[in-house]
Amino acid sequence: MKKWQCRVCGYIHEGNEPPEKCPICDADATEFFLVNPKEEEDLSPIAIDSVPVAEKLSFGGRSFDILTDQIYKNHLHPITVHFPNGVLPAAVIFVVLSILLNHNCLQEAAYYNLILVTLTLPIVLFSGYVSWCKKYNKAMTKIFIIKITSAAICSSAAIILVIWRYNDPTIMDATSSTRWLFVLINIVMLAAAGLAGHLGGKLLFSNR
Ligand SMILES: [Zn+2]
Repeated sequence: MKKWQCRVCGYIHEGNEPPEKCPICDADATEFFLVNPKEEEDLSPIAIDSVPVAEKLSFGGRSFDILTDQIYKNHLHPITVHFPNGVLPAAVIFVVLSILLNHNCLQEAAYYNLILVTLTLPIVLFSGYVSWCKKYNKAMTKIFIIKITSAAICSSAAIILVIWRYNDPTIMDATSSTRWLFVLINIVMLAAAGLAGHLGGKLLFSNR
């Protein structure tokens, strides 16, 4: 049985022919190359070195290249993304609990947590962009379109919620007419973060 590896995400397929589409990243058959049985033993789960991509970012000078290389090699994106991904669900849970228990201090907690999420966004988004350029050569297959869209929705929602709450501290009061819209944006933000995280895991652990 031959082994084929997806150039975009590192997924390994066994068979006489490469698959029509990669089940992980949706890349087509032309993106698959035959894995030499000898080389195969050296493949890491994410096959970083075997993927002949690593396009340089097109802006900035040499020091910028060194910086982005370090961001990629030290896995800054999966590391930093855990900060907002851990805190964001707490913020949404506090919002829901503040309604259920009618406790104003819980929506305050949600607000402060969401400020923390928003502050981490620049580094999370930038390190994600660097990984996408260097590891996946800016591949624009279905999985990346969905992942980038959900990251954009999640980030926009977090920024909107923080600014909204800053301008209207009474937004979560029972008398507020737009309270449910505020809660709905919280739910959308959580769903988008979950989806982006799920797809990130799918890409990272595609060979397990
Ligand atoms: Zn793939």
